[in-house]
Amino acid sequence: MDTRPEPALVATTCPYCGVGCGVMAEPSGVHGNQAHPANFGRLCVKGSALHETLKTDGRLLEPRVRGDAVSWDTALSAVSDAIADAVARFGPGSVAFYLSGQLLTEDYFVANKLAKGFIGTPHVDTNSRLCMSSAVAAHKRAFGEDCVPGCYEDFELADLLVLAGSNAAWAHPVLYQRMEASHRAGRRVVVIDPRKTATSELADLHLQLKPGTDTILFNGLLAWLNEQGAVDQDYLDAHCDGYQEALESAQRAAPSVSEVARQCDLEVADVETFYQWYADTPRTVTAFSQGINQSVAGTDKCNAIINCHLATGRVGKPGAGPFSLTGQPNAMGGREVGGLANTLAAHMEYDTPGARELISGFWGNDALPESPGLKAVDLFEAVHRGDIRVLWIMGTNPAVSLPDSPRVRQALARCPTVIVSDCMAETDTTAFADILLPAAGWGEKDGTVTNSERRVSRQKSFLPLPGDVRPDWWMISAVARELGYGDAFSYQGPADVFREHAALCGLASVRTGTILDLSGLQNLSDDEYQGLEPIQWPVRSPSGGGISGTPRLFSDGVFATPNGRARLVSVETALPAQQPSGARPLVVNAGRIRDQWHTMTRTAKASRLLSHRSEPFIEVNPEDARRIGLSEGGLGRLSGHDGASPYVGRIRITGNQRQGEVFVPIHWSGQFASQGLASNLIAAVTDPVSGQPESKHGTAELKPL
Ligand code: SF4
Repeated sequence: MDTRPEPALVATTCPYCGVGCGVMAEPSGVHGNQAHPANFGRLCVKGSALHETLKTDGRLLEPRVRGDAVSWDTALSAVSDAIADAVARFGPGSVAFYLSGQLLTEDYFVANKLAKGFIGTPHVDTNSRLCMSSAVAAHKRAFGEDCVPGCYEDFELADLLVLAGSNAAWAHPVLYQRMEASHRAGRRVVVIDPRKTATSELADLHLQLKPGTDTILFNGLLAWLNEQGAVDQDYLDAHCDGYQEALESAQRAAPSVSEVARQCDLEVADVETFYQWYADTPRTVTAFSQGINQSVAGTDKCNAIINCHLATGRVGKPGAGPFSLTGQPNAMGGREVGGLANTLAAHMEYDTPGARELISGFWGNDALPESPGLKAVDLFEAVHRGDIRVLWIMGTNPAVSLPDSPRVRQALARCPTVIVSDCMAETDTTAFADILLPAAGWGEKDGTVTNSERRVSRQKSFLPLPGDVRPDWWMISAVARELGYGDAFSYQGPADVFREHAALCGLASVRTGTILDLSGLQNLSDDEYQGLEPIQWPVRSPSGGGISGTPRLFSDGVFATPNGRARLVSVETALPAQQPSGARPLVVNAGRIRDQWHTMTRTAKASRLLSHRSEPFIEVNPEDARRIGLSEGGLGRLSGHDGASPYVGRIRITGNQRQGEVFVPIHWSGQFASQGLASNLIAAVTDPVSGQPESKHGTAELKPL
């Protein structure tokens, strides 16, 4: 009998989507953590293949400066010299940081602290800008602060689940399994999506609307609810401002159901059915994702959804609320620490009264910038112009993921110093790096993440650091010490960073009234941090001892605005900026597929994940295929706004696409398919409020190859 001890399984979290599933992991295998409240033991195909992605082939294992492997001392000096030189010659605003929802909260916190608190640059943004910044902006407008009011349990408690712009079956698979279970138990599901998807198969009603018309649909709903006497006037009177203005705006935009149906290209009867179900069902959850957010009107679309929930008093109640499905594993954590260009730290904004003094005092430095920095697309434009002299990119691949990829690559090529910290040696972005810093990956790094339902969970290491790999918080702190900020960056481990983050959030909550209160976690011992169970913020210490989380926010009708009242927002209808034309007659929808993650630098290592879709493809309606002369399995070439950079993919002819619209996956990069970059087809146009690019709506011409 084998008497050797079982290898210890480590309770950690999946590094992919915002569901934030708990994983029991060891080097040779993973399984779902039965005790984790996000997934109760379930994993999707990506999560269950995590152990197959742990090979170190292709990893960046040592620091490199202009192509040469160097020691950490040399690399850290090179980074700090470049930053110090740029600050001395051009000012702090010549240095920028581009972060990632893949970073752990501790990494994010230290990066934001160094950039804004000590270097003094406001230019700190993140790939979360591409993912959910419209939802962030809408939350702030409606609730006063960026937060998802509900929790995953609400998907099981709701009697009506509305999924808007979300293919959750592929993008949030384990949460989708909870939705499926709810549907099997008799709950209704409405899917609002221009495409037929794996998710729409669940729908009792699928509204396959014209792309970009979601605001009209929800404005129409608000006007119809009012007309039918189905709003909760008592709730509006007691807890909300702005109803009359929002209603009048909705009535102007969507004066009748037939007009809504005409503008959205839907059947009148289907729109009426949706509206009637919504009116009849107090327990309604509306979940929305990138199909709503990635738009020039993304913030307004989110607010149009939230308006209907406020008008019916369905916020923060069991089984009722608007629910932003976050794309990345720690987009929420990045928002918490202030890793967006328009925030400072701990949910405090540039215009939060007393915020600057509080943060400067807490960090013992007064370098904080005066005004917000540049958001992702504008940030890379500033790099292109030469205004940014040093750009530090952490854990993301903007040469693939930002819109107008050729322009982003030009910007990177022009930038005097590009620093990239990454797990992988060769990505489309590392190719532009002057300085490469080897970062710890999943299984090696240690810290916390926050999922879509505000649940903070530990992500733990169970592997040694290979080569000269280091955690992000470590290398950022080491650079800070090189720059002379040593006292403020003397962390011994991620627990030190987390305690500081929690203490700052707790202080901010007391002094400025922010709802992101983590005071219950600020005194965790190292052992308590190691064993921290998943918990939803705000996390406070009740007088009787222990800590308590918060499943739902605003249940009492008190919001995070200065007067405690929620705000309905007047939303106008803005159609997509990229409209089809004679030269580019097709609408391009870009999105995720089931088995790949982002730019595939990790998921491509698990060969079975390629069996679902093994190459870039173009889904096209049969009528369009016939007209263009395309055949199933042949190759097609899409030429977008930049005709010089086409997208080439395998043709898949399917009735899932509306006529005049095609779908392409976002995952392939130049590394895996030189002509498979979906971002070549998307122009760099953004929502004026959130700065989020219109990544769901390009235009192109399609020809057989
Ligand atoms: Fe990971 Fe998301 Fe799948 Fe859960 S649903 S296992 S978090 S990819």
